[in-house]
Amino acid sequence: MSRPVVVSGPSGCGKSTLVNKLLSKEHYKNKFLFSVSHTTRSPRPREEDGVAYHFTTKDNFRHMIDQGLFLEWAEFGGNLYGSSKKAVTDIASKAGNPVCLLDLEMNGVKQLKALDEQKKGLNCFYIFINVPSMEILEARLRERNTETEKSLKKRLDRAKQDASFGTTPGNFDVVIVNDDLDVAYSKFEAAMLDANPHLKPKPANNIFGDI
Ligand code: ADP
Ligand code: 5GP
Repeated sequence: MSRPVVVSGPSGCGKSTLVNKLLSKEHYKNKFLFSVSHTTRSPRPREEDGVAYHFTTKDNFRHMIDQGLFLEWAEFGGNLYGSSKKAVTDIASKAGNPVCLLDLEMNGVKQLKALDEQKKGLNCFYIFINVPSMEILEARLRERNTETEKSLKKRLDRAKQDASFGTTPGNFDVVIVNDDLDVAYSKFEAAMLDANPHLKPKPANNIFGDI
């Protein structure tokens, strides 16, 4: 199995932007697949059910927790979010050994890291995306225009905790500051390939042939 990659960072830091840029590259088609989480939050415009998330009710989410269907789950900004075991095993069972990509907030990361430490996990590679400053984060969230004043405040309050956890040595394999998008994307792609070196492009015209 390819090594799953977990991407985390304050809400608005640019996780979806970076992940979607990677997934949209033709040469990575079917090489990286996004683990579609369940959430009880409402869909944003252009978010498709089953693509961005599996949108569901709190009752159904709680029922799924009771049935042990989640690999990890957490509450964030008043909503529940979780990665079902099925979302991950469906990717792992696909032909071509694709890399499973998970976008998780801090408590989900802690749960997966605890499983890894007990040797019961997926042995994930952990990438933290940070922002140049809290002011820039606020400006990006406002510009995205997806939050109410209340949910924006919740996300900004939480961002400080996320940044502190994310930048504590040992918590993540790689920390990337998403300032200039192209620079951040290059680092992001490089980290993805470091976690899964079998996906690195082979050098052209290798004098040793195809070895
Ligand atoms: P997240 O998935 O982490 O919540 P998004 O990917 O939705 O964050 O990004 C939040 C907003 O910031 C979006 O409107 C996105 O277009 C914008 N954005 C992302 N990266 C950058 C960047 N490097 N510079 C400026 N704006 C960015
Ligand atoms: P958003 O509402 O902006 O899509 O996501 C809010 C937060 O939930 C983000 O920090 C994102 O990483 C996190 N998140 C998304 N899916 C999951 C999940 O399955 N589990 C956990 N723990 N967090 C998730």
